[in-house]
Amino acid sequence: MTEHLKPCPFCGGKANMTTEACLDGGGRFAYVRCSQCKAKSREHYHSYGNDCPVMYQTIRDEWNTRTALTPTPQEAAR
Ligand SMILES: [Zn+2]
Repeated sequence: MTEHLKPCPFCGGKANMTTEACLDGGGRFAYVRCSQCKAKSREHYHSYGNDCPVMYQTIRDEWNTRTALTPTPQEAAR
């Protein structure tokens, strides 16, 4: 377990923890996204105000271990 985010497995770009409001307004998504090619980790949904350090740690661990993650053609084309 670490707070460090590995560089993007596709382009070596800097990865950032990102949160985004859910379109229905009931909560937020959190995920890691590459600042260069926009590759994303799996999104984790949480209701508004219910994010927690454990959830962010899970997202970090997924990003750091899922180097086989493949961007969709649309994401790769951006
Ligand atoms: Zn990238």
